[in-house]
Order: sequence, then C-alpha cells, then structure tokens
Amino acid sequence: MRGLPDPREQLVRTFGTGGGETWVVSAPGRVNLKAHPLLVGPEQAEGERHNDRSSGSRKDMTVPYSRNMDPTYENFIAECPHCDAGNTFNRASDLRTFRPIDLRTVTCQACHRPFMINGDVINAAHEMLLSDCYAFIERKQYMQCVLSVAQAYEVFFSHFLHVQLIYRAFAKDDNRDPRDFNRVVKQLYDRVRRFTFEPMRRLFLRLVVDKVAPTSLAQAEAAIAALLPGRPQDVPHVPRQDIEAVSDGPLKALLLRLRAADANNLRNRVVHKDAHRPRLDEAKRAHDEAWEILCGLTTRLRLRYGVNWYIGKAGR
Ligand SMILES: [Zn+2]
Repeated sequence: MRGLPDPREQLVRTFGTGGGETWVVSAPGRVNLKAHPLLVGPEQAEGERHNDRSSGSRKDMTVPYSRNMDPTYENFIAECPHCDAGNTFNRASDLRTFRPIDLRTVTCQACHRPFMINGDVINAAHEMLLSDCYAFIERKQYMQCVLSVAQAYEVFFSHFLHVQLIYRAFAKDDNRDPRDFNRVVKQLYDRVRRFTFEPMRRLFLRLVVDKVAPTSLAQAEAAIAALLPGRPQDVPHVPRQDIEAVSDGPLKALLLRLRAADANNLRNRVVHKDAHRPRLDEAKRAHDEAWEILCGLTTRLRLRYGVNWYIGKAGR
C-alpha cells in the first residue's frame, strides 16, 4: 500500500502487458489531473462506475487486451483482439468520461465481444493551463489569465525537454531500464529547476534548431550535461539567423513567433511591485498568441504527455 504520492511522481502504465504493470517515475511538472478543465461532473463519474460494474469485473481476468490502441483527445481508438476490427470509442458519448482510461472493458462495435483497453494518454499541462484561461477571461480575471499564459510556456518548455531528451531516448534505448530513466529525469530536474521563462525558451530553441535527439539514455545524460549550463544566466541567446536556417517552413514560423513572444514581460509587470492590471485586449492577445504558438509546436513536434506513447512506434 503506497502512501500519498510524491507530487513529482507520475504513474506510468505500459501498453499491452496484460497485467497492468505500473512503473513509478519521477516527472517534475506533472499534470495535476484534478485541474483538468474537462473533468467530468459527479453524474458522469457515476456513469463511468456503472459501466465498469456492468462490464462484469469478475470476468476481467479472461477478457483479452487490445494490442493496438491510439488514444486521441476526443476518441480512444482500439483494435479488437477477437476480430481485428478498428473501434472508435468517443470519450463523451461512448466512454462517458474525460478521465484518462487506465483500464476499461469495452464492447467491440463490430463483433460485440468484450475486450480491455488501457494506457491512455493525458493532456499536456500547457494545454490545460491555456484552457483554464477561457474561464479567467469570462470572469474578467485578466491578471490570472496572464499568469497562466506565462506558466503555460514554461511548462511547455519543460515538457519538451523531457520528451526530446528523455522519453524519446528511453523509447530507443535497448535496455529501457526504469532506474536509468528515473536517474536522467532527476538529472534534468536538478539542471533546470531554477530556470525561468527566458533561459528555458533559449534551451528549447537551441534543441530544436540543432535537432538534438539522443537515441539512448546514456546519450541523453551526456547531452544534458553538455548542453544545459549550471546557471540560468549562462544559457546562450539564440540568434535569429539560426532560426531562419530551419528548413521546415511552418516550424520556422512558429519558432520565430515564439522568439518574439513577450508574455513573460507582461507576466512580470503583473507579478512585480506595480501589480499591473491588464486590459481584456492585453490578456486575450497573450492567450491567443500562446495558444497558436504552443499548440502549433505541440503538433509540429509530435508531442504527447506520457513516455509510453513514444515506445514501440517508429517516428514518434
Ligand atoms: Zn471485434
């Protein structure tokens, strides 16, 4: 029986093990699921429990797992292990929950036989922070909106460092030892924990422009030691011409917008002693810009939240 989870821990489930094998890894900046803007109300949660009961939990031991699953934001796509039919389970209508599915019995839409799905992905924190802003704007809490927008950038930068330096390296690593994974996560956390918006933005731009992509945790460890200075003020500026040299046109456009984004300056004016109270247009402009830049980069750089999405699939 585990005690209360460490806030820096994240439960990571493996796909297709059949045994619900769980690893606990340290993941600074993890998503607090309770803060998810799309969390369901009690009536939907009840529906979820009802569905679980009606599926017959005593029989779950004999129900096979889907071996080919692709969770998306709106749907959970899973291949039936009985008839190989592709099933699309809509989260709102079919699964009746927006909570990540860690284990669930579903019925094949083609052959109507039961099978299990698991290993859901969850939304990245930056997307949730930006989603929260709609409510702040509606309530005219523009200061809070600006704070969340700036935080969304910082969380995004941290998320990218984890994906690019650790998750993708771990997925390609021959050994794939969770102890090595945890060690490198700790190394990265120690390196960047004092980094604020500007050094994190520079690190992000540098890694993308230079296409840094370690293919093992040993390489990742070396890259973190080599590329990330000990002091935030030592992270070098990324010149505009370095970004201009990026061959992927849409990515280049997003990087240039990111380089010019000034949400951090607006945030500093709100936070610091003048306690600036932004107008609607200031808050909305910062939010719209962050949404376009960060969601664009999330798509362009093929980012998902958990480490498991990157495992076993070429090109992720
Ligand atoms: Zn089927």
